[in-house]
Amino acid sequence: MSDTEERAGITRREMLEKVGKTAAGSVAFASLMQGPFAAANAFAGDRAPLTAIAGVDRVVMAPGRTYLNAWAGYGEPPRRARGRGTPPPPAENPGPPPTVTWSKESGPGTVSFADEKSPVTSAKFSAPGDYVLRCTASNGETTASSTLAVVVEPLPPAAPLQPVATTPYAIDNRLWSQRARAIIVNWIPHCIDQINRTDLKQGPGGIDNFDEAAKALRGEPHGGHKGYVFSNAWVHQTIESMSIALMLDPRGDAEIVRAQQLMRATLEDWIPRVLAAQEPDGYLQTAYTLRDPQKWAGRWTAQGRGNHEGYTAGYFLESAINHHAMTKGKDARLYNAAEKLADCWCDNIGPAPKKEWFDGHQEMEQALVRFGRLVNDVEGQGRGQKYIDLAKFLLDCRRDGTEYDQSHQPVVQQYEAVGHAVRAVYTYSGMTDVALETRDVDYQSAVRSLWDNIVNRKYYVTGGVGSGETSEGFGPNYSLRNNAYCESCSSCGEIFFQWKMNLMYHDARYADLYEETLYNALLGSLDLEGRNFYYTNALDSGAPRTPWHNCPCCVGNIARTLLMLPTWMYARGADSVYVNLFIGSTVNVTGVAGTDIRLVQTTDYPWDGKVSIAVHPRAARQFKVKVRVPNRNVSQLYRSAPDADGITSMAVNGRTVRPPVENGYAVLDRVWRAGDRITFELPLKVQRVRASAKIAADQGRVALRYGPLVYNIEKADQDITQVLAADSALAAEWRGDLLGGVVVIKGAFAGGAPLLAIPNYARNNRVEAEVAPPVAAAPAAPGTRPAPRPPTSIVWIKEA
Ligand SMILES: [Zn+2]
Repeated sequence: MSDTEERAGITRREMLEKVGKTAAGSVAFASLMQGPFAAANAFAGDRAPLTAIAGVDRVVMAPGRTYLNAWAGYGEPPRRARGRGTPPPPAENPGPPPTVTWSKESGPGTVSFADEKSPVTSAKFSAPGDYVLRCTASNGETTASSTLAVVVEPLPPAAPLQPVATTPYAIDNRLWSQRARAIIVNWIPHCIDQINRTDLKQGPGGIDNFDEAAKALRGEPHGGHKGYVFSNAWVHQTIESMSIALMLDPRGDAEIVRAQQLMRATLEDWIPRVLAAQEPDGYLQTAYTLRDPQKWAGRWTAQGRGNHEGYTAGYFLESAINHHAMTKGKDARLYNAAEKLADCWCDNIGPAPKKEWFDGHQEMEQALVRFGRLVNDVEGQGRGQKYIDLAKFLLDCRRDGTEYDQSHQPVVQQYEAVGHAVRAVYTYSGMTDVALETRDVDYQSAVRSLWDNIVNRKYYVTGGVGSGETSEGFGPNYSLRNNAYCESCSSCGEIFFQWKMNLMYHDARYADLYEETLYNALLGSLDLEGRNFYYTNALDSGAPRTPWHNCPCCVGNIARTLLMLPTWMYARGADSVYVNLFIGSTVNVTGVAGTDIRLVQTTDYPWDGKVSIAVHPRAARQFKVKVRVPNRNVSQLYRSAPDADGITSMAVNGRTVRPPVENGYAVLDRVWRAGDRITFELPLKVQRVRASAKIAADQGRVALRYGPLVYNIEKADQDITQVLAADSALAAEWRGDLLGGVVVIKGAFAGGAPLLAIPNYARNNRVEAEVAPPVAAAPAAPGTRPAPRPPTSIVWIKEA
C-alpha cells in the first residue's frame, strides 16, 4: 500500500505514524502493544496486535448526539474506499474476539452513551465544551485504546440569513471589472462555440445531443449520444452563466454589449432545443434518451448510479433559476420545464411505494433546495417544500456504498471529508441546505464537523480543496501536497458550502474563507484573457491552461460562480444587511426591514484598502448594516504575520464610529436614509504565511499574501528555487504594466537576487500556451492529469 493509493479508512503508513499517539487527529488510535507495532513489519509478526480505532474528531450541537463507530480487532481495519486496491489480508493468528467499552476521558459535563459496550453507538453531552472520549478494546489478555475529541457547541441561530439572489448589478472595480469582462467577452462566447460544435474530439457532446434526443422522442432517425453521460451539464451551466452575464450592466462597453447580444441570441436558439429533448413526463437527460437500453435499462437504478442523472438534472434546475431571475420571471420556459423535471423526480423517488435511491454524483440535492426556495417565492410558501424534502430524502438514502461518493455511511454520521472532492463538497453544501431548511440537529452537527475537518486539516492556503491522493479527492489529514488536484469545480462547491455556513451561523469567518477560495483557487482557474482554464489548480504548476478538457465539467461552473457576485457579497436578515465582500459595485438587496436597499460600494480593493458604501434604502428605516471585519487566520493550518486583520477608521457620513463587533461583523445600527455613507479602511500589508508543522509539504517554506490574495513566484521573473530569508524586507508595489495591473510583492532572496511575487490568480499567464489542446486517442477518464511538468510558478517559497 503506498501513500498515493486510494485511501481506505486508514493507510498502513498512517497507522504506523499514529501508533501510540492519542492526541487529536483524524483517526486517533493506539495499541498498548507498542513493541511489535513500532516495527515496520508490525502486521507480519506471529501475533497481530489488538487495535482499537475510536474514530474521527467531530463537533456536535448541544442537544444532539454524536454517532460513534469504533473498530476493534487485529491487523488492519477494513477498507471502505471504492472497491479498488486489495483488501487488507486477514490478521495472522488473531487473538480472541475483543470487547469494546466507551468512556469519557475528559470534558465539562456528563456523557451518556446509548450503549457503552457497543462499538457502534451514539453519545449525548450534558453541557457545551471540549470532550475526549475513549474507546477501549479488551480480549481478556491485553487491552488497546484510542480517543477522539468532541467539541459540543450551542445550536446555530434560530433563523438563518436569507440569500441575496443575483439580480441586475454593476461592477466598478479594477480587478473585478477586468475579470468579469474577460469571462463575458471571451470565455462564455468560447463555451458557446464549443457547445455548438459537432466535430469536437475532446470533450464532445454539446447542443447536438439535445437535437438528437429530440429526434428520438419524435420517433425520427437520430444519431447516438456524444461524450460523457453527463455532457448536458456544461450546456446547462453555460445557460446559467449567460443568464447571469446578462444581468451585468455593461457600462457602455461595446464588446460586453456585443457579447450580451450573442448570449441573448444563443438563449433564444438553445432553449427550445433543450426543451425539445425533455421527455413527456419531465425527465431530461439526453444520454438516457439516446441510451443503449441493454446497458442502461431504466432510470434511478442501483447499477446506474454512475449515470449522473441527478448531476445533470441539478444543473438544469439551477440554469432555470438564474434564467428566471434574468427575465424577472417574464420568460418562464425554463422555470416551467424545471418544475416538470423536479415533479418527475418527486413522483418517482421518495418513501415507499416510491423508489429509494441516491446518485453517484451529487448536485441534485443542492439544486432541489435552491429551486424549492424559488418556487416558494414565486408560487407561495409551501409549494416548493416537496423539492426540499426530496433533497433530504436523496441524502438520507446514501449508505452501504463507498467513501469515493460519500455513501460509506449515512451522511449524518460523516465527520471527515473523504472521497472525490467535488462530490464531497456538493454533498456537504446540500447537507447545509437541508440543515438550514429543516434545523435537523444531526445535519447541523455533521456539517459543522465536516467543515472543521476540511478547514483545519484538509485545506490549502489558496482556499482550494482536494489533494488528489484519492481519485480526484481528499487525502488523509494534513496530507496537502503542493502538486494538488484542487479541481475548479471543487472550489465552486467549497464556496457554496462556506457561503451556506455563513447563512446558518451569521458568522463572518465563513465569508473570510470563501473570499479566500474566490480570489485564489477559483479566480486563477481562468487565464487573464478568459481563453483557457485549469481543470486542476495545483499550488506548484508548470502546465499551461487549456481551452477545453476531456471532461469540461468546470467550464460553465467557473463562469457562473465568478459572476454571481451579488450573492456572495451580501446576505440579509430580517432587520440586517450583511456586507461579506468588498467589490466596487451597485447591488440591490430586497426585503430588509420592510424595504429594499441599493448598495453602492466604491473601492479599489484588493489593490487599495479604502472602502465606501453608500446605502440607499427605498424608504428611511432602522436596520443594521453589518460589515465583515476580515480575519486572515481562520484555518488553524496557517498563520499570517504581521497581523492585518480588522478594520481601521470607520465612519458614517464622515463621523467616526466605533461599532461593536459581533460574530466578526462591525454592527452599524441606525435609521438609514438614502445617501448615507459608510467609509472604512481594511489594512493591507504584505504577510508571510507559515503552515502548521503537521503539513510536511510546506515545512521550511513560506507563502506570501496581501489582503485576500495569495502570491506566487514565477520562473518568468526569477529562479524559483531560491531561498527567502525570514527577516528580509518585503514591499507591495502597484505595477500597471504587468498582468493587466496588479500589486506585486518585491524583496530580495537570501543570495541578493530580487524577488518578485504576483497574485496566485494571475499565475502562469506568461508560459507558452499549447497551440492545440492535447487530443487523446480515446476519451480519458474524468480528471486525467497531464504528465507533470517542472513547476514554473509556486506558492510556497523556500525559507532560510
Ligand atoms: Zn470540474
